[in-house]
Amino acid sequence: MRIVVQKFGGTSVATEESRSFVLAKVLKLKLEGFFPVVVVSAMGRSGESYATDTLIHLLKEVNDCVNARELDQIMCCGEMISAAVMTATLQKAGLNTVMLNGSQAGIITDSQFSKARIQRIDTTRIFQLINKGKIPVVCGFQGVNEFNDFTTLGRGGSDTTAAALGVALQAERIEIYTDVEGIMTADPRLVDNTKILDKVSYDEVCQLAYQGAKVIHPRAVEIAMQKHIPLLIKSTFSDVEGTLIGDFIDDDIHDRIVTGIAYLDGLSQVKVSNIIQSEQMNLFRLLGNGGISIDLINIYPDYIVFTINSGATSQLLEILEMYSTNIEIISYCAKVSIVGGGMREASGVIASFVESLSKNNIKILQTVDSHTSISALIATSDLKNAITFLHDRFILEK
Ligand code: ADP
Ligand code: ASP
Ligand code: MG
Repeated sequence: MRIVVQKFGGTSVATEESRSFVLAKVLKLKLEGFFPVVVVSAMGRSGESYATDTLIHLLKEVNDCVNARELDQIMCCGEMISAAVMTATLQKAGLNTVMLNGSQAGIITDSQFSKARIQRIDTTRIFQLINKGKIPVVCGFQGVNEFNDFTTLGRGGSDTTAAALGVALQAERIEIYTDVEGIMTADPRLVDNTKILDKVSYDEVCQLAYQGAKVIHPRAVEIAMQKHIPLLIKSTFSDVEGTLIGDFIDDDIHDRIVTGIAYLDGLSQVKVSNIIQSEQMNLFRLLGNGGISIDLINIYPDYIVFTINSGATSQLLEILEMYSTNIEIISYCAKVSIVGGGMREASGVIASFVESLSKNNIKILQTVDSHTSISALIATSDLKNAITFLHDRFILEK
């Protein structure tokens, strides 16, 4: 049975016109003899009536400290509205479709509301529908825990639903449809002259996604990678080939050193001074227990530096009350990263990275590197320029 999972993001399902493009993609797949399983995100982006951010805002306006459980119950509604509208659209065009919420689709998760992990998928119902010639339209981003409470999988989690379904249904491939024509060398909304990457390895995309390239959720890539199912990132609105993510060996793709540039905005740098090493561990433990995730960690004999999401600043100050006189915070920071499997063997990359930023007067607050990425913490006001300079240096000039 040749199953293909097709996931459509928020902008792809937002309007009647965009849904007509979705219809065309589903129809084409069906006519080619495949069995489509459709996954949808909530309709539109922040500010639009049924978008996830709008639903969060609705509840937070009532109670800013609302429980994660209740927030998940409202967040799930976005995908339900979207799936119902999409199902109706496909039915109107004569396709035999059935909408399934996370529970009906058999998606069982743990109970970590707002960041639940899929534990297993009971595929019985989906297979029954497919065997009857029906097309399931599944709500992305949601599942149910052991008590039948709805849970959500973390922002951008419809990609994760698509990948997990792809694995559970042994799909031939997973197609992720969005509003750009594939994975580009940098966010095309911030930089001109970006290029589409036609083939990328799972590893590189994971790195790009973890470093902020939100075109695909890193968890989705990890899930597809475990079973070697190809992922295809394409535009809903064109017929451009898009980006194929798979098990490419270095020779296929590594005439390039840097594959892409990614960024994460909304960070703050935290420095805690006058703290000896035995106390440093205690501090990290306190933050861990408080659920604050930290990044870019540098440890020195009597001080530590790390970054947090700016939204967690007041919580951090509450937790670290006992160290308050020693804490300095720089807000409005962003992390910019170059990513590429080809960096493993190349020399001088860090020198070129620092040079590109320094010669353009971009102050580097901190750096971190791995064998396939180099990142710098900079001011958010420098972000667009930094991405442009790095893109010019490592992608366009190479
Ligand atoms: P969807 O709602 O379809 O899931 P997302 O907004 O989650 O869409 O992801 C698509 C967006 O990802 C694009 O509009 C683009 O601005 C952004 N993006 C960031 N980095 C990249 C990149 N390297 N390549 C393509 N798009 C990127
Ligand atoms: N609607 C959810 C979000 O905005 C999930 C998704 O779009 O993938 O995060
Ligand atoms: Mg997305």
